[in-house]
Amino acid sequence: MKILKLPNSSTADVLSFLDKNNFPISSILSNPISAIEGMASHVNGKFVGVCARECVGCSADAIPPKNAKDGIKLLTPSLLKAIFNLAQKLSVEKTEIFSTTRLNLFSGSNELDHPYCIDLRRLTSSYFQKQYGHPYGSISSDLIFHSSPTIRFKKNLQKILDEPLLFDNICVAVDEQIPFRNKDEYDKYLHTLVWVWQTLNAALKMQLKHSREEKHGTPRVILNLLLPSPENSYRDPYQHIYPGGPRRATTYKELTDRYVKPFVGKLIRIDDPIPSHHVFTTSIGTLEYIEDSKVFISEAVYEPVGRANTLLGTPFLFSKETVFLPCIRTKIYPIDESSFVIRGCLAPNRYSDGEISWEQVNKPSWIDQLEDFILDISNYREDSKASSSYS
Ligand code: SF4
Repeated sequence: MKILKLPNSSTADVLSFLDKNNFPISSILSNPISAIEGMASHVNGKFVGVCARECVGCSADAIPPKNAKDGIKLLTPSLLKAIFNLAQKLSVEKTEIFSTTRLNLFSGSNELDHPYCIDLRRLTSSYFQKQYGHPYGSISSDLIFHSSPTIRFKKNLQKILDEPLLFDNICVAVDEQIPFRNKDEYDKYLHTLVWVWQTLNAALKMQLKHSREEKHGTPRVILNLLLPSPENSYRDPYQHIYPGGPRRATTYKELTDRYVKPFVGKLIRIDDPIPSHHVFTTSIGTLEYIEDSKVFISEAVYEPVGRANTLLGTPFLFSKETVFLPCIRTKIYPIDESSFVIRGCLAPNRYSDGEISWEQVNKPSWIDQLEDFILDISNYREDSKASSSYS
């Protein structure tokens, strides 16, 4: 790969430098970056997310840390600051490299397990505040998680709930993706859920502030219920939650009976209207034991992309019946404290960060071109003399 060390000169100079070196900057500007990975590794010639949860159906195909033979590259606050310094420089000429409607900070890792996740959200929020006059939580910036037994996860969840302007909704995974090796591990997970549900109390009661005033006092938690579609099923080795344990749920009722009801009581569907922009919300509900609670309910099916293709019996194929069209996503992957790469991926639809094969769609040539470059932005670091000093 070719390393491009970007000059910290005028916007026109930077754009022309990128252009002269055949970096497809105009394609990035027309396909603005919609995800910045928090943890990455280089595997089989491409950058992928790294995630210790190891979900069996991970649509991002994030690899477990033990498989990151090339090491784990972490997005640090100083790298993110340098990236925003660059973005701010480019935006002087109305050339915004980031999507202003959807920017996912962790599409291939479990955000709350990341050591800097709160700082990264704060930085992103400052960038949006400075550039557009509103915090990060005003755009599509959901906090999405699988419950994790780590102390870091617990500390981060507690902390982020004190800064509710940093995110839009909280999406809680209510599924059976974590690969438990035995009953003990599963029981520990259930024990963590007791804590998670208690910690989310104020959010469930809609008491968290939102950066958009019209969203104050509206549901803030999305319960993401995931099952194979009715035509699909779990493949043989994945029929049970752990070897010798219960079979994986095949109905939404089973999921809520296992992961909602024992902790916060029955999930009772109510007739509230679903906001029009909530494409995957199927109903609104209240929780039996939490007074004045309301949650969004999303009864969804696995997108058979990434690792879900090994979890499910039938792999995914586009057909005339496919409701949403695939779309290009551009994502940043960290390399080190001063450099990163941008990859162009094909997502199954414009709401997903999952990745499908290009074989099913004509791949534009700039997607391969992008993979030739590492962008070195050491000139944009705050400790660089020439820095534009974004903070
Ligand atoms: S689904 Fe999310 S939490 Fe699970 S392995 Fe993938 S990135 Fe990690």
